[in-house]
Amino acid sequence: MRGSIACPTPDHVEYGGNTSCLEVYVGERRLVLDAGTGLRALGQDFMKQGLTRTTLLLSHTHWDHINGFPFFAPGYSANFKLRVMAGHLREHPGGVRDVLAGQMAQPNFPVPLDALRADLRCEDFDAGDSFELGDGLSVRTCRLNHPNGATGYRLEYAGKSFCYITDTEHTPGAPDQNILALIEGADLVVYDSTYTDAEYPAHVGWGHSTWQEGIRLCQAAHARQLAIFHHDPDHDDATMRRIEAEAKAEWSGALVAREGMVLTLA
Ligand SMILES: [Zn+2]
Ligand SMILES: [Zn+2]
Repeated sequence: MRGSIACPTPDHVEYGGNTSCLEVYVGERRLVLDAGTGLRALGQDFMKQGLTRTTLLLSHTHWDHINGFPFFAPGYSANFKLRVMAGHLREHPGGVRDVLAGQMAQPNFPVPLDALRADLRCEDFDAGDSFELGDGLSVRTCRLNHPNGATGYRLEYAGKSFCYITDTEHTPGAPDQNILALIEGADLVVYDSTYTDAEYPAHVGWGHSTWQEGIRLCQAAHARQLAIFHHDPDHDDATMRRIEAEAKAEWSGALVAREGMVLTLA
């Protein structure tokens, strides 16, 4: 749930310090959204449970969304099938595979991507595409407003919908129509809430949004719940507690994402 850089310090215990990584249970399937530092512990959990496959959907490939990838234990298991998908790298030579390899290229990292023993399939699509992942799971995507590009996701299964919208910057007073269309009527929207509206003017052009904009978008699109996400590392636990109280007072559908939090769309 943390943005920009992991901050596992005593000031970030309550809400957590790991960067973006979500696990989504869909029927028998287990999907992963983003490969931030939270992916390391998730990989250990997968190994313990004997899982043999997953699909990893990447919002984009800034460090805080891929830093956990080299530490994902199932990637080193020959029995594991790992499908990686990204929607912002069609123009990049070699696509998402090349970007993941770059992060692990020496001297940045001692173990190259080629050392992964899992059956690794990397696929690039265009943000805005829709596709099926099988077992009745549908995915819609949209392009987000972020330096180097990013992709927003809407997952639909058995009449429930979940949206993952990070990283993205809003334009005050002009709600993002791509996002509004994607999150229309969603049961849960995870949204880039790096800043507060008061902090935003000092960060124009940095590619991030605010929890207040998240509420405005969710209300306009009739979404049911907002998870405030991608917390600024400068927002310690005391600050996050304040944000949580203010957001809940503003809209009862708002909650603040915490490390290990489990939400059920039942
Ligand atoms: Zn980020
Ligand atoms: Zn980013």
